[in-house]
Order: sequence, then structure tokens, then C-alpha cells
Amino acid sequence: MKAEIIAVGTELLLGQIVNTNAQFLSQKLAELGVDVYFQTVVGDNAQRLRQAIEIGRSRSDLLVFTGGLGPTQDDLTKDVLADFLNCELIIHEPSMSKIEQLFHSRGIHMVESNRRQALIIEGGEPLENTTGLAVGNGLFAGGTLYLLLPGPPKEMKPMMEGAGGEWLRSKLGERQPLYSRILKFAGIGESNLEAKLLDLIDGQVDPTIAPYAKEGEVAIRVSTKANSASEADHKIDAAVEKIKERVGEFLYAQNDIPLEAEVVHLLRASRRKLASAESCSGGLLAELITNVPGSSGEYLGGVVTYTNMMKHRLLSVPMTQLEGEGSPGAVSDSTAALMAERVRELADADFGVSLTGVAGPAESEGKPVGLVYFAIAERGKAADVHTLHLSGDRSIIRLRAVKATLYRLWQ
Ligand code: ATP
Ligand code: MG
Repeated sequence: MKAEIIAVGTELLLGQIVNTNAQFLSQKLAELGVDVYFQTVVGDNAQRLRQAIEIGRSRSDLLVFTGGLGPTQDDLTKDVLADFLNCELIIHEPSMSKIEQLFHSRGIHMVESNRRQALIIEGGEPLENTTGLAVGNGLFAGGTLYLLLPGPPKEMKPMMEGAGGEWLRSKLGERQPLYSRILKFAGIGESNLEAKLLDLIDGQVDPTIAPYAKEGEVAIRVSTKANSASEADHKIDAAVEKIKERVGEFLYAQNDIPLEAEVVHLLRASRRKLASAESCSGGLLAELITNVPGSSGEYLGGVVTYTNMMKHRLLSVPMTQLEGEGSPGAVSDSTAALMAERVRELADADFGVSLTGVAGPAESEGKPVGLVYFAIAERGKAADVHTLHLSGDRSIIRLRAVKATLYRLWQ
């Protein structure tokens, strides 16, 4: 059981009060055998609170909230969570009578907002507040446990030691593990992918769909809680289908496998061999491919021909092609094609790939930073050349160029 404490209150962020509730709750949860992996503090802001819930839900089985159960406008915890779960807030009658009685006995007028303290989320369990008015709430929804406690320590502590702790103990046996699947994409940028899936990422509660940062690659994590792996698979499959309808052509794997490993597997399956000639990428493609265990069966080798002289001597690219008045230059589609064809022949490979471009920071041959040509020469065919216009710093341009080349190979 992985738990996260979410303390809600702008005064905590401003340093006006110390988050003693988190300390108390961490101790209590440890006593119950629950591992607290995260403590979050978030202000009285609906949007950021919602974000905290989304993140918490994706990484924890239990979210324990303190604060924001009171009557005022900035007390948002129940409203935001109910909205997030698409649940209604309902009046807990015993709490309501208690509030009404208290105001009546003191002879003070009760303002409407005080009724808010008697609200609970539909389907949840009310947790009695023996020292205050705001009712607590325990809820199990979409595989996650939510425990909502008041902010004032003199209310929060007795609730945790009373009804809250009791509710939690009763639920500990019913927890469901979190299952995730990583979807890997190539040939599409991160922001473009997110834009195409935005409503799914925002609106989908179970399974959750979230972008997942990965070096030079784009990934999505689909997570759900379920009683068994097959139940989880079933739910995740349905979500993946929705994703595929939109961006299926860019999806290359349904596990956390790098693109180069997928390329090596494909070459192995088709019994074909690869060789490479790299200029601007400086051997990065060779590095990535040879990182894949067992790639010696598919990758024959490569050359890094960084200067024109080396392109000429090792790959027999004519000097007139590379430099001089009116020549295409080293960074050109025709040079990329020659490099790929020559290295394929040299290695007697089925595929020769090449990269030549301007990784920056300065332009070269009057060509702009980020311009990269790569070519794939297949045995018996003329080389297929592609042009990239990449942005980013030197290392990002090199990585993106290599990943784009691998993506074409994979296709
Ligand atoms: P109220 O009914 O008093 O409004 P609430 O559940 O809405 O309670 P908050 O408004 O967030 O809770 O906080 C009320 C007070 O409780 C704070 O001003 C602070 O004194 C105390 N408090 C809140 N959160 C914490 C915390 N994490 N640690 C220590 N004290 C806290
Ligand atoms: Mg309050």
C-alpha cells in the first residue's frame, strides 16, 4: 500500500504555519503498515489541487488529505475531488442536524456556507468529527482510497485516531495493485502527440493516460488498478484502442523498449544486416544500436566520417561532391545518399544508413543549424533520402536525428 499525504492550504505554502499534520499522519500511517511515499503541499486553488490529485492517483493507492473541509470559499477539497471523480456532493443529515443544533443552542444565525461542512462525496463514508463541525470522508473510487480529514490539528488528530483510522483499517485488505503499460511512439513530437490526445489525457479517469518523458522519445503511460493482471489488461486494451484510433501509426511498442531495440528485433526477424556511416551524429547511431544486447547479429559496423577527407578516403565520396564552387557539399541529400550506398557496399549489408547535417551551434557551408539529411540504402535499390529541420541544442539535434533515422528503418 503506497500512500501520499496531500496537505491543502495556501498558508502552508506561505510558511505561515508548519505542516505538522503531515508529520502526525506519516507516523499514524506507518503504525498501520502503510508506506508513505510522498507528502505534497498544495494551495487553496482548484486547478492545482486537481493536478495534485491526478498525480497522486497515478502513483499511490491511498491519498490522505488534510485541510479545506471548512465552510469558506477557499475550502475546496471536497468540491475538487468530487468533480475529479465525477461524483455528486450530498448532505450527510446527522452532520447537518449537529451543525444546526449548535447554531440554534448558541442563538446565532447560521449562514448558508456552514452547510458545506455537512457535505460528503456520494458513495463515500462520513467520518465523525468529535471536536468540530466539518465531517470527514472516506472513499474508494477507481481503485484508489481517499481519506479526507480537516485541517485544524485538534480536529484532524481525533478523527484519524477515531473514525478515519477505523475506516482505513477496514479498507486495507481491499486494496488493488496499480498496473501500467508504457506506449512508445516515434515519428511524432511530444507536443503534437499530447495535442492529439489532450481530451483523453484530461478526461480519462480509469485507466489514466499520462505523457511520460523519455530521452529523445515520446511515451505515454496507461495505468489502472485492478484485482488481477488480466482484468487490468482488459481495461488498458480498451484505452489503447482509443489512442490507436488517433495516433496508431506512430505507436511502435506497448512496453518500455527503446526504438533501436525494436529496429534490431525487426532486422533479426527478417534476417537482414545493417551498416552505418555517420557524420554529424558522431557515432551515436552505432552507440545506440550496439547498446542493444545481441545486436552483433544484425549490426555489421559503421564509420564516423566527420571530415570531408574521411568521407572521401573511407567512403569514396568524390571531393568535387563535397567542396568547391557549385558542389552540393557535405551536408546535402546527394552526399547522404552516397554515404549510405557506399557503406552498404563496403559491409555487404542489406541496409546502409547515413547521417550528415549541422548539429550546431554554428552553421556550416552556409546551411542552418538543425538541417540534417539521412539516407537509407537498401540492397538493390537507390538510397532513400530524408530531410530534417530540427531544433534544440547540439546534443538534442543529434539525438533527434538518430531517432528519426531509426524510425524510418523501423517503418
Ligand atoms: P476550517 O473548518 O477551520 O476552515 P479546514 O478543514 O477547512 O478547517 P483549513 O482551512 O485548511 O482546514 O485550515 C484551518 C487551520 O488548520 C489552519 O489555519 C491551520 O491553523 C490548521 N492547519 C491546516 N492544515 C494544517 C497542517 N497541514 N498542519 C498543521 N496545521 C494545519
Ligand atoms: Mg478552512
